[in-house]
Amino acid sequence: MSEIIKTDAVVLNKLDYGDTSKIAHLFTRDFGKMSVIVKGARSPKSKIGMIVDAINVIQVIIYKKETRDIQLIGSADLIKHFPTIKEDFERIKYATAVIELLLQLTVELDPHPRLFDGTVRIFEIMNNAEKNPKFYFAKYFLFFIKEIGYQFPITHCSVCNKELNDTMQINYNYDSGILCGECGKDRMSHFRFTKELFNLLQCLSSKNNNVRYGDRELDTLIMLLEKFLKYNIDEFKGLRSLKVL
Ligand SMILES: [Zn+2]
Repeated sequence: MSEIIKTDAVVLNKLDYGDTSKIAHLFTRDFGKMSVIVKGARSPKSKIGMIVDAINVIQVIIYKKETRDIQLIGSADLIKHFPTIKEDFERIKYATAVIELLLQLTVELDPHPRLFDGTVRIFEIMNNAEKNPKFYFAKYFLFFIKEIGYQFPITHCSVCNKELNDTMQINYNYDSGILCGECGKDRMSHFRFTKELFNLLQCLSSKNNNVRYGDRELDTLIMLLEKFLKYNIDEFKGLRSLKVL
């Protein structure tokens, strides 16, 4: 028995399959990540083949069978697309990093509507030419880590729970987390926060977008979050899109 479902989805990627079809990975709002086959999508005249394209937000009808790993897509309508992202190398790079996180770190058929909505929102922001995609990617990265259940420690020392501020010496250790100066003394420090980086992290995790920041701090923070995930999740291979110069 197959069930007919209708849901919104972000297209993560698509690959050729056989002579005429494609297989796409979707992050759907109501069912989480899913693999679908799009029949006839390799033909240049295929409308559905054009709509089911990376980063697009679509509404799909899927014939879903529990016994199948790859579901059959019936139809797709385009809801949102992001032309400015696709025209700009920096934007593509960070949008691809968002997709890599979803591909690597979400579970098939495990719905996560808030993460879905946050993902559509970040693409809308990255598509806005005025915005710096790197800054918003860093913000999304923190949000993503929290949503998949690995909150990155920010406000309090992970050992003594003292509230941290930017006048303190703050260190970071992969085993213990973020450390105040006192607790940092007798533990190995893998990383030392500068005042600027600490403030950036506080701002990124708040609703405030009026933050002054340096490009270097952003790069350092993204690298730190990537290492944090690698340390906590064995399967996580890091973000390939960010390695490209
Ligand atoms: Zn402490």
